[in-house]
Amino acid sequence: MSVMDIFETMEYGPAPEASSPALAWIKERQPFGLFINNQWTKPTSGRYLESVNPATGKSLAQVASGNSADVDTAVAAARRAFETWSQLAGHTRARYLYALARQIQKHARLLAVLESLDNGKSIRETRDLDIPLVARHFYYHAGWAQLMASELPGYQPIGVVGQIIPWNFPLLMLAWKIAPALAMGNTIVLKPARYTSLTALKFAEIVQEIGLPPGVVNVVTGEASRVGEALVRHPDVNKIAFTGSTDVGRSIRRATAGSGKKLSLELGGKSPFVVFDDADLDSVVEGVVDAIWFNQGQVCCAGSRLLIQENIEQLLIRKLRARMEKLRLGDPLDKAVDMGAIVSPVQLREIQRLVEQGVAEGAQKWQPSWACPTEGSFFPPTLFTHVSPASSIAQVEIFGPVVVAMSFRTPEEAVALANNTRYGLAASVWSDNINLALDIAPKIKAGSVWINCTNMFDASSGFGGYRESGFGREGGKEGLYEYVRPAWKTETVRPTAESILIAKDSTTEEEDEVSASDGTRFALPAIDRTPKLFIGGKQVRPDSGYSRDVYDVHGHRIGEVGEGNRKDIRNAVEAAHAARSWSAGTTHNRAQILYYIAENLASREDEFTRRIVQQTNRTYEDAFNEVQVTLSRLFSYAAWADKFEGIVHRPPMRGVVLAMPEPMGVIGVACPEPYPLLGFVSLVAPAIAMGNTVIVVPSQQSPLSATDCYQVFETSDLPSGVVNIVTGERDVLSQVLAEHDDVDAIWYFGSAEGSKRVEFASAGNMKRTWVSNGHERDWLDTVQGEGQEFLREATQMKNIWVPYGE
Ligand code: NAD
Ligand code: MN
Repeated sequence: MSVMDIFETMEYGPAPEASSPALAWIKERQPFGLFINNQWTKPTSGRYLESVNPATGKSLAQVASGNSADVDTAVAAARRAFETWSQLAGHTRARYLYALARQIQKHARLLAVLESLDNGKSIRETRDLDIPLVARHFYYHAGWAQLMASELPGYQPIGVVGQIIPWNFPLLMLAWKIAPALAMGNTIVLKPARYTSLTALKFAEIVQEIGLPPGVVNVVTGEASRVGEALVRHPDVNKIAFTGSTDVGRSIRRATAGSGKKLSLELGGKSPFVVFDDADLDSVVEGVVDAIWFNQGQVCCAGSRLLIQENIEQLLIRKLRARMEKLRLGDPLDKAVDMGAIVSPVQLREIQRLVEQGVAEGAQKWQPSWACPTEGSFFPPTLFTHVSPASSIAQVEIFGPVVVAMSFRTPEEAVALANNTRYGLAASVWSDNINLALDIAPKIKAGSVWINCTNMFDASSGFGGYRESGFGREGGKEGLYEYVRPAWKTETVRPTAESILIAKDSTTEEEDEVSASDGTRFALPAIDRTPKLFIGGKQVRPDSGYSRDVYDVHGHRIGEVGEGNRKDIRNAVEAAHAARSWSAGTTHNRAQILYYIAENLASREDEFTRRIVQQTNRTYEDAFNEVQVTLSRLFSYAAWADKFEGIVHRPPMRGVVLAMPEPMGVIGVACPEPYPLLGFVSLVAPAIAMGNTVIVVPSQQSPLSATDCYQVFETSDLPSGVVNIVTGERDVLSQVLAEHDDVDAIWYFGSAEGSKRVEFASAGNMKRTWVSNGHERDWLDTVQGEGQEFLREATQMKNIWVPYGE
């Protein structure tokens, strides 16, 4: 084509980015080894895997196929490195992170071309989005390394972390994982995705170049079954950070259950893109292009469900089709191309299969008239209309350039349709009415909500899911907590109630009397009070029709409580759901109720003290102290109720990001055995302070302090159903809670075995778990027994992006 021809036709000419420097870089180094202890080593297996260019289907490089022996070596190297890396001053680590950021910028074009060659994504995106964001993540987290000591006092690194990443944003996912982990003083074994290891290997070279101490970052390439699983199961790995599919996330949840490994999961999505009739439709069309055709739709938070207000549906679909005709698909290295290749033939076939299924289910498929290249893995932008909300293309993550359109009439319908998914990663809301948009944003269950924009990311703003999109956040201050633990957790554990129990001198006491510290003797509470279960604000008989005896430490029967079962738990979950308007009330009101509970409990402090004495045989003084700490704890969470707030982020754009902690929803709580009152209140108070509703299984041995709270709750204006209490066998009942699909999180404070069962059972709906793994905490201590750790477990962050300006 001559310049004159181009001028005449106004056609795009080819504008290829040169691939030769990247190809030369590959050629000099391949076959690529594993990167362990800052050295390139041969894989134990002696085998190599082929990395292919998806745009041509031709081989690009040979990459080491690691196995569990290699994982062992890498973990050992990371463990050794942890000794010194974790002890460095924050400033020193900040310098290393800064050096990584600088070096990434210096090699930006090589990284962009490598990424495009290996993954098939367009150079426009790798150059302008992936690689700049990678550098930004390292800069941002250099800052957190610098500030860790002052901004995260009382926290320490976790240790060796295993990080497993997908192929859709190979280097960006690496950065999201490695930057915060390094900043907080951890060491790393990273497993890149099978199809896309090359930029991680270039990153390893950068690690060497800047002189990061050996063993701090290790990269083990290979297959999921050989490397990924070995990492997940390795006993010396303290945390797994995973990004990938929900199915694999679920299997990792099960495999790590009870291991004590910390876990964060960034999983799939089926994110809604909601368009109201007053939206600027030309911006909407460009928004849809970014939402679903960015990275060929291989984006976990892709806006793959287009929800349109009915009266503008036809108009928007027409505009969208016209725009689709003009999209350019082809050689990813062509700078004027919008869409590149699908990562692999396997992924392409999966997209084709789901699209065929959509057609078979009766939806209408539309694709532009132009043809895709026949060489390599390409799939055209695709729009489905006449989609039924229950059909598979409306529910299953396609992970390709396919959008399904549906319509709604009212804002309420829009919210219901948006939430009609098991996922909850992201959402876009389009309207020129800011009141409407900001009203809808909190109602959609998703970790990120973009108002009049989409697919916006920045290191300052956390990213991660609700529901089956996983748990944990990457980016923002909230992301740092995925890589630290409270300092006290590895210190020698202080004496717990168990040892207090053993230390008691019980011989001096008469059977049915106890003595106060001043020597006065008093009778124990009468036996005949038989508390029922507390569900939906009412005392109800257990479904089983059975009661269980409660004994004191001498084996004397001191009372009975209801024997709760599966049915009672189900009723309690229903009641907790019915009470969800609790979260819509004001934080001021929740604080008031917590104070009121404290007030009502204080007026009965003697009775509550005696109850503790009766159940545990501790001294009156000791039990009295437990009641006083309980009152203080209620005050703490009343105080926090209107103070645990979000942040306004300032990412590099015109606009703000509102990071808002939202309640988890319905939380199942299994209380610790010791401290029958304090253990119960220490968990219930932060949960309800943050707007959750709870189903609580009290201490199994000593449930009477919890059941005595019924009357306190009834007289404290606590709405029915906010706190539900089911007594009985704690491990059996918490298992039922863990399996329940309408429970959003579960807290379990009991045995290691019970913790494992709860974590395993939670994988069904991927509910977030918080378990004690059989370790006691000192509930009397304000560092261990209360504070922000509890509030973070009670909430999840939503980041709402609000750009401004005309
Ligand atoms: P995948 O789950 O198959 O693989 C992800 C990574 O896990 C790969 O490195 C793979 O080798 C490894 N892996 C697979 N099975 C494993 C196992 N049993 N044990 C340990 N490791 C194992 O996902 P994928 O196809 O590579 O990526 C696509 C998926 O990732 C999509 O579902 C997408 O939604 C999700 N994703 C989520 C996010 C997010 O932030 N939430 C970001 C990108 C991608
Ligand atoms: Mn590849």
